Amino acid sequence: MQLLKDRIRKDGKVKEGNVLKVDSFLNHQMDIRLFREIGKEFKRRFEGTEINKILTIEASGIGIACIVAEEFDVPVVFAKKTQTKNIAGEVYRSQVESYTHGRIYDIIVSKEFLGKGDKVLLIDDFLANGKALEGLIDLVQAAGAEVVGAGIVIEKGFQPGGDIIRGKGIHLESLAIVESMDDKTGEITFREK
Ligand code: 5GP
Repeated sequence: MQLLKDRIRKDGKVKEGNVLKVDSFLNHQMDIRLFREIGKEFKRRFEGTEINKILTIEASGIGIACIVAEEFDVPVVFAKKTQTKNIAGEVYRSQVESYTHGRIYDIIVSKEFLGKGDKVLLIDDFLANGKALEGLIDLVQAAGAEVVGAGIVIEKGFQPGGDIIRGKGIHLESLAIVESMDDKTGEITFREK
């Protein structure tokens, strides 16, 4: 998606530890005009796929997921990050190792909002090692629902997440795939599809 790649080149900041900061338009301040274009692009890429729910993970996936959900006219459920141990039975629970914070946390979804027969599109802002998506996939499987696809705004193609998720046979669409980035020069290159 050219508009997105141009924006990443213009406003993205490469930090140490292979972290790309896009705080000024994606996951702190949010450019809703850009989000609308992102929503339309996901709609185009998943055209013909039966979807009745979008699942994301708090916090930075939520804004994007809401705009995408409007395109598909389906509800959004977001997995909550939690440290409290809910009573077993009420929620589906998985564990995710955080890329940016390096710690492991639980994610939960209430059994009320995910179940058999749901056809779920996963949405998130970044794909790095694939842990966040794997956690979401776990929750969907625990619910007896089906993952019909995964939509990522920025995939870091030099990290293993993309291969891991595609290797599971999941239809993964990433709107920008970063091929390389350099924290010294700030240079970012993209994979051409
Ligand atoms: P993964 O679980 O695939 O290793 O990492 C994905 C999650 O980590 C995303 O939900 C995202 O919030 C965060 N993340 C991973 N890499 C980056 C990055 O380069 N920049 C930002 N802002 N977040 C990232």
